[in-house]
Amino acid sequence: MLRDTPTTIYLKDYQPPEYLIDQVELSFELGETETRVRSTLHIRENPASEQASGTLFLHGEQLELVSLLLDGKPLESDEYQLDDEGLTIYKIPAQCLLESEVRILPQNNTALEGLYKSGGMFCTQCEAEGFRKITWFLDRPDVMSRFTTTITADRQRYPVLLSNGNPVNHTELAEGRHQITWQDPFPKPAYLFALVAGDLRSIEDSHTTPSGREVALKIYVEPENIEKCDHAMASLKHAMRWDEQCYGREYDLDIYMIVAVNDFNMGAMENKGLNIFNSKYVLASPETATDRDFQGIESVIAHEYFHNWTGNRITCRDWFQLSLKEGLTVFRDQEFSADMGSRGVKRIEDVRLLRAHQFAEDASPMAHPVRPDSYMEINNFYTVTVYEKGAEVVRMQANLLGRDLYRKATDLYFERFDGQAVTTDDFVQCMADASGRDFSQFKRWYSQAGTPELNISSAYDAGQQTYTLTIEQHCPATPGQADKAPFLIPLAMGLLDSDGHEMPLTLADETDAVAGTRMLEVSERRQPFIFTDIKEQPVPALLRGFSAPVKVHYGYGDEELMFLMANEQDGFCRWDAAQTLAQRILLARVESPEAEVPAGFIAAFENALADTGSDKALLCEVLTLPSEGYLGDQMKEVDVEGIHRSRESLKKRLALALKARFLKVYRENSLEGPYVPDAASISRRSLKNLALSYLMQLEDADVEQLCIDQFNAGDNMTDVLSALSLMADRESSAGEQLLEQFYQQWQNDPLVMDKWFTLQALSKRPDTLDRVKALMRHPAFSIANPNKVRALIGAFCSANATGFHAADGSGYQFLGDRVLELDGLNPQVASRMVRIMARWQRYDSQRQQMMKAQLERILKTEGVSRDVFEIASKSLEQ
Ligand SMILES: [Zn+2]
Repeated sequence: MLRDTPTTIYLKDYQPPEYLIDQVELSFELGETETRVRSTLHIRENPASEQASGTLFLHGEQLELVSLLLDGKPLESDEYQLDDEGLTIYKIPAQCLLESEVRILPQNNTALEGLYKSGGMFCTQCEAEGFRKITWFLDRPDVMSRFTTTITADRQRYPVLLSNGNPVNHTELAEGRHQITWQDPFPKPAYLFALVAGDLRSIEDSHTTPSGREVALKIYVEPENIEKCDHAMASLKHAMRWDEQCYGREYDLDIYMIVAVNDFNMGAMENKGLNIFNSKYVLASPETATDRDFQGIESVIAHEYFHNWTGNRITCRDWFQLSLKEGLTVFRDQEFSADMGSRGVKRIEDVRLLRAHQFAEDASPMAHPVRPDSYMEINNFYTVTVYEKGAEVVRMQANLLGRDLYRKATDLYFERFDGQAVTTDDFVQCMADASGRDFSQFKRWYSQAGTPELNISSAYDAGQQTYTLTIEQHCPATPGQADKAPFLIPLAMGLLDSDGHEMPLTLADETDAVAGTRMLEVSERRQPFIFTDIKEQPVPALLRGFSAPVKVHYGYGDEELMFLMANEQDGFCRWDAAQTLAQRILLARVESPEAEVPAGFIAAFENALADTGSDKALLCEVLTLPSEGYLGDQMKEVDVEGIHRSRESLKKRLALALKARFLKVYRENSLEGPYVPDAASISRRSLKNLALSYLMQLEDADVEQLCIDQFNAGDNMTDVLSALSLMADRESSAGEQLLEQFYQQWQNDPLVMDKWFTLQALSKRPDTLDRVKALMRHPAFSIANPNKVRALIGAFCSANATGFHAADGSGYQFLGDRVLELDGLNPQVASRMVRIMARWQRYDSQRQQMMKAQLERILKTEGVSRDVFEIASKSLEQ
């Protein structure tokens, strides 16, 4: 807790560490009231540091000193100094051993950073700066050490004792205690340290790497969840194989362990050899998990596994380089998921997320570059910009190089930097060296914030048979960056003739025509591209595959958009044409609710629904209207009620016009037989449930019965939850009854209870806020559990626009109260919540005043955490 204004840390101030810790021996005595941690640090001067000052500062917070020895001698009180942030030792020798013992209280650790208890189990979370709450250390990623960890605990309560690396020794001790030692041969930064102790069961499997290493795979869970690990294990094996094939990377220890815990701030953590997961991303069975959950598990398991090379073997020099590991690893997990399921649909899902959250962040006071220049609290920079935009930046490099050169570049990266802590510049240099290309302009993607916008115009000259695309780029100002230099933007495009066929393309200075997609490299502020031998006026398909994270403005006519919906081969462009058209209609109806829905739009919907041969997953995306949040982003001032009304009424209009079609699709896509979460079945279920959501717009008793029947018959959570969420929107006793029935059935399953909370938080009923408040007192809710907070409070405030932005300000008051309540327990979770109000300027002046008042109230509260202070103060800066 802070009294002063937190200080800002700058990238430009980076200095290599003066001292290194080559080796560390840790010993934990786990107890019910306190834990003792003894550490021995092997310290030496860093030869790469300019001059060692002779003074050593080690990070450490909330540690109680028991003993401190330098080279075997106790330190006198004038030889060191302790404060809230760490330990300073004066006159440190060039090489020495520092031994310390501290007392910590994991039982009281509600921030869930460092060592804490989750239920009956001890576990850790050290990224980014949690290790300093365990012992004194150089807690920065460029200090890499070999760890040996000994854990001592009660054998009955904690039969399983885990840490990084390989187990080397197990001893039974007196008084029912036991001890195990783990040794990790790979040097790693402290943020990758992990420890777990508990009464856990495991499932086991094995994997043989191409070089013949036999790896034991283990997933540890609490005993009641042992039946729910098979999907996670299968996903891990797929991920290992994929990384061997696509990146030539294999695993390097004898054992790979995953542990599921219920109380966890993030999704999962890639600690070396011992991944710790939010149980949400491990546990699944058909009865309790939805299709989305199954897909989420596959992707998060893969993501953490991929970090073994992109993050662990090669790590970040400092936290400004976070995207070095996260952008690259998200790109890797996106490609893995694309290979496991439908590539086209995966791309659309990624773009939907990026546009909804990252573009919004870019347009807010929290906008920052993929490699930020400064921060107050690094935990606030685990953002969609660093992760998802970072992945887009890697994707662009992969596309500019092409498959073979990109592989050559990543091979070079692994070879050149294995075992080191490096920067995003080092990564890009490998792309440049492998390809011989100059990436200096490209690197602006790392240093300049904001979403670039492309204004594209076209001109067809029938006499010359030329077609000119003129592309202008600009990027809006973001905090601290008023003017930006032009980006290098890869723009994939094609031209369609009147039959919908791809035209062969020749640029003015070329001789051979290239059929299919062209990648234009836009590098100037204004740049014309002239195509020759163009026999007729074409329709351009722009930004195929979403080849760059930009906004494209091109004056398509409605007819052209419908033409692209019917003819374009690229899934993203086809979907985007449908979204653009729907967006136009929806926004027009916000202005004038009676505006006509063009007959062509309804016909296009009908044609799409009738096309039984098409990719059902893609069809689902095309038939999903843009979200309320995304529509709001397209308006000068967000009209919360207007958007909601417009979207609901268009859905109803489509349902009225196409009721028979929707019913037919519903019936044709109902599945018989046991539940399978494969791509084909998932897409059929999505389409069926999408049809049901349109049909439920009609106040039709037969349709409602269909929905209730689906709930009752459902043998899988996807169908049950789809039906239940539609019923939860209604103020009817039938809806209440189903909610109660669902609760009775699943009250003992915390992850299913999260879903139950969320669908009530998202309900369109007018009394939702009161119900959310009442649910906070429900026995299944706990404010100390991040999953519960996100499921109920987070869902209401971030995804129920009409409820949260209620005109009387009750939603804002509620969020302000919750932020302050949470901040005392868990600052990381509190700061995620306060972020929801960062975009207050987007609303009308009354709402602005009310949100501002909450932010000011939070800032004025004494003892507010650095996490929350940073977000609230930056939100108010502009
Ligand atoms: Zn990650």
